[in-house]
Formats: sequence, structure tokens, C-alpha cells
Amino acid sequence: MLFKELNLIEPLLKALSAEGYTHPTPIQEKAIPVVLQKKDLLGCAQTGTGKTAAFALPMLQLLQEKQAPKNTRRNIRALILTPTRELAIQIRESFEAYGKFTGIRQTVIFGGVSQGKQVEDLNKGVDVLIATPGRLLDLVSQRIVNLQHIELFVLDEADRMLDMGFVNDVKKIIAKIPVKRQTLFFSATMPPEISQLANTILTNPTRVEV
Ligand code: AMP
Repeated sequence: MLFKELNLIEPLLKALSAEGYTHPTPIQEKAIPVVLQKKDLLGCAQTGTGKTAAFALPMLQLLQEKQAPKNTRRNIRALILTPTRELAIQIRESFEAYGKFTGIRQTVIFGGVSQGKQVEDLNKGVDVLIATPGRLLDLVSQRIVNLQHIELFVLDEADRMLDMGFVNDVKKIIAKIPVKRQTLFFSATMPPEISQLANTILTNPTRVEV
């Protein structure tokens, strides 16, 4: 199969060919149509499978197709939660690369560095926020980040979130985003605790495994 056959919009196909990518990976082939249909997704996939593009491409498309009204351009529309700074930076770079011919703006926040530059970037306005849990909660409690307009939510590497002790932070964050949203949940493994978490945050999900 080719990316062209996945009903992706021209700005995304153009970015993919700039990256030199012609064929979707198995997770991309399975997940992209599900996300484009606005369904919740339970994805069982590890890093290295092309999982980032599997959610980034259809998310960029949904956001681009339904542009936010001018007076709401300060609202954050999509949130990606990931456990580590390295993953957060990589995901941000992917959104930048795939979204370069769209109008979608993104930024990344993570702990361990001062918040000044991150706050400055947030204040410019972003559509997509990529975050690690601790720094996100910190900025939410300072009222620098508002999660009340999230339409699309991704929980990336859920099993690692659990291993790293972030589950309570993740639950606190989920309590602050709208119930009416599309949720994409990714985990390399599905132990009972993870399935349970998935059950509480997904609505009628399509399960995709690679
Ligand atoms: P990920 O699993 O998202 O960390 O992606 C693993 C690597 O595969 C990254 O370096 C991507 O840039 C690359 N990649 C993702 N999708 C494709 C594709 N369809 N064709 C070739 N490389 C890809």
C-alpha cells in the first residue's frame, strides 16, 4: 500500500514525500483510517514501528480540516502525553516535519529545565501540545496551560507511564480534559492495569496491534 491510498490530504502527502516516505508501516496502515474516522484507538505497538506518524498524520489532518474559528486561536486543541523528555522532543519534531505544509502550530514542554522559554512558546498560541506529565500539571496549576478545549488526546507509551510512576499524574490530567474528545491510547504491552486504564479513558475503541 502507498500513503496516497490512505486518503491523506495534499499538504501531508507533500511532507511525506519530502521525508522520502512512500509506504506506510503496518501500524500506520491500520491506525490512520481509524483515526480519520474519528474513532478511539487502542494501539499495541512499540517505538520503532512508525507509531508516531500513525497518530500524528491523521491528527494533523483532522485539525487542518476543521480549522478553529479566529477568536479561538489561543485554545490548545490536541494533547500528546508521553513519559520522557526524549520522546516528547522526537514527537514534536515529527509533528513539525509532517505538518510543515499545514497551518498547525505545535510546541513541547517537559521538566528538568526552566519553564521560561516553554511559557513564551505557549503564549504564541499552539494547536498541538506535546508534554510530559509533571511539567504539564505544573503549568496547568499555574493557569499557564488550559486543557478545557482539547479535542484530541493521545496517551503514548502507557505501560512506561505506569513503570515510571506517572499514573496518578496522568489520571489528574485526564480529569481536566473534556469528556467529549477523541482518545488514542498506545502501549507496547497490555498488562491488566493498563487494560483497566484504557477501559476508563477510551470509548468503544478500535484495537490495532502490530
Ligand atoms: P517511531 O516508531 O514513531 O519512533 O518511528 C520510527 C522511525 O521510523 C522514525 O525515525 C521515523 O521517522 C521512521 N518512519 C516512520 N514512518 C515511516 C515510513 N512510513 N517509512 C519510512 N520510515 C518511517
